[in-house]
Amino acid sequence: MVGINPADRDADGVSSEVPIQQSNRGELGSSLEASSSTPSTHSPPALVSTPSRNSTARFRDPSWMYHPTGQRFVEQEESPVRSWHMHSVQMNEARLRAKHTSSPPPTSRSASSYQSPKPTAEDEMNQRMRSLSINQRQANLTIDTIVIGGSIAGLATAYALSRVGHRVHVLEKAPSIDQRGIGIRIAPNCSKLLVEWGLGEELSRLAQKCRKSTFRDMNTSEVVGIVEWAEDIIQEAGGEFFLILYSDLRQLLYDLAVSNGVQVSLGAKVQSVSADDTKDQPTVTLEDGTILSADLIVGADGQNSTVREAISGVEPPATDSYDSYYSVVIPGDRMREDPELAEFPDLEEWPMWMGDMRVALAFGTRGGDKYCIHLYWPNKATTYDGPDDEGWETFCSPDVLDLSNCDPRLQKLYKMAEYCIRTKYVVRPPPDEWVHESGRMVLLGEAAHPLLPCSTQGAGMAIEDAAALGSLMSRLRTWDQLPMLLNAFQDLRRDRCMDVGLTELNNATLVTLPPGPTRDGRNAGFRQALALLQKAEENGERWSDAQLRDQWDEIGYVFAYNARDAAEDWWVEWGALGEGSKAMMMHDPLNLSFSIMTETSSAEPLATQIMAMG
Ligand SMILES: Cc1cc2nc3c(=O)[nH]c(=O)nc-3n(C[C@H](O)[C@H](O)[C@H](O)COP(=O)(O)OP(=O)(O)OC[C@H]3O[C@@H](n4cnc5c(N)ncnc54)[C@H](O)[C@@H]3O)c2cc1C
Repeated sequence: MVGINPADRDADGVSSEVPIQQSNRGELGSSLEASSSTPSTHSPPALVSTPSRNSTARFRDPSWMYHPTGQRFVEQEESPVRSWHMHSVQMNEARLRAKHTSSPPPTSRSASSYQSPKPTAEDEMNQRMRSLSINQRQANLTIDTIVIGGSIAGLATAYALSRVGHRVHVLEKAPSIDQRGIGIRIAPNCSKLLVEWGLGEELSRLAQKCRKSTFRDMNTSEVVGIVEWAEDIIQEAGGEFFLILYSDLRQLLYDLAVSNGVQVSLGAKVQSVSADDTKDQPTVTLEDGTILSADLIVGADGQNSTVREAISGVEPPATDSYDSYYSVVIPGDRMREDPELAEFPDLEEWPMWMGDMRVALAFGTRGGDKYCIHLYWPNKATTYDGPDDEGWETFCSPDVLDLSNCDPRLQKLYKMAEYCIRTKYVVRPPPDEWVHESGRMVLLGEAAHPLLPCSTQGAGMAIEDAAALGSLMSRLRTWDQLPMLLNAFQDLRRDRCMDVGLTELNNATLVTLPPGPTRDGRNAGFRQALALLQKAEENGERWSDAQLRDQWDEIGYVFAYNARDAAEDWWVEWGALGEGSKAMMMHDPLNLSFSIMTETSSAEPLATQIMAMG
């Protein structure tokens, strides 16, 4: 396996534990070289990979690896960014140690379990059973919820809660849903949830499928590597990889939520939230002085969350990374007029130009009508002198970046930009608590687990949050269950988001490496994989079982996850158990038998229905 030293693995294929302190900076390069002598597969260095590999085998030195600009940690040894990343890495290491000494979590398929892309009849039956049950289940106790923030996490959550019977009011500070963004990626772990919500057709119409990533050297234009996702892997993951405009995804979620009875108030900026013991319900105060109350407040208000502050009491320290994203949209028809660019808008791929502490990520969408590029760039290498704001509302001239040393096609593309949005990258540690002590306020989306801007999983984690919360809240029967379900949500989601967030940081690091032996090692791994791929194609071979298994090892953990199933499994393992034992502790056999009867009476017709459907 390219990128993994086989010596790092136990007999069962799990990476052996390596204390962080024993690591050294040359590890990535040497592990790439060591493994390159094993030509049995052609997998390039991971772009989506399991955190276990990243943290214990591939990138052993978190002191410089866990930041997209890597080098900065060496320059600023004691920076707060570094401390936080170290803290995250250590937490992750500890969790992974615990994970590997016990059985894998019930919801994530273990990487080595990849056998065949075809689900068994039993898998299919379970899946249908789950889908039918979640689609039919409505909460016995329906509550009033205010969701603060009407972007991806807020609208998805509003829909997921309304779908199981709750009444939802979304408060969004922007005057319109139709805000300009650029492009956003919908990985299989996310698209499967959207398809379940009935958005499959719309996604196929608006989004572009993505089947591979091409890695070019930003300066020489050389294609250094290709990562291609095998059809079997996409099928096994249970969802397509889509590329879509941010505004299209947001509009789809808005329409879905509103058509399901969600009320959305635009231009409603929340100034403060509060929940205290003297009042039954938490309250929200808007900028214009209006006070609203609800049974539950959901904070989906992004990086600068007002709700997060109310939950944690203090804001976690935010640290400037001294890097920003410059994102542009280009009209596809202009590109088609230039023979050198004409192929790009319709490619089912996500090209990447890798540079020295910078990278350009691009893709087409809307049937090639629009082309999006996100450029990650050090601030000091730009002429930008406008407001230094976070978020997606700072428009600037694309001319602030100098691409004159870059691939001429990237230069041409960039010059065709319709507009450019600058997003400052501020590093924030995730808050320890997502749930207010009152049990009536919860955080999700970017507010709960800040990721890199333009992360591959920004929409993914937000929509997974929504699906998980919706599933848990469909179980609500009594008021005292509410805090338990919210805490279950935090437990389920926090680890998952931390794992995926670290994987994203590692991937960003990999594609922004400065010149040096580590970058040479990365490129050697990529080139070797590319050569093997080309040779296999010449011989008419495509994917062997070994290659599929290797790729599954790399991406199965992230892509195959189903957030809704994870929440359903939590209920079966813990929630229902808690309910049963509570009834027994209360010496209330009637209550117990009632809960058994309700479970049975709803399950029986369902099972009969499924059997009848063959
Ligand atoms: C306008 C916009 C454009 C974006 N474009 C892209 C893109 O092109 N590519 C990409 O990868 N990611 C983009 N993102 C980020 C992306 O949406 C997130 O990374 C991810 O989807 C998770 O989103 P979220 O809903 O948790 O947070 P966010 O998307 O940050 O949304 C937070 C929402 O809360 C609202 N809000 C904040 N404070 C208050 C308040 N006090 N009262 C009421 N409302 C409040 C904000 O207006 C915003 O709509 C964009 C975000 C926005 C807001």
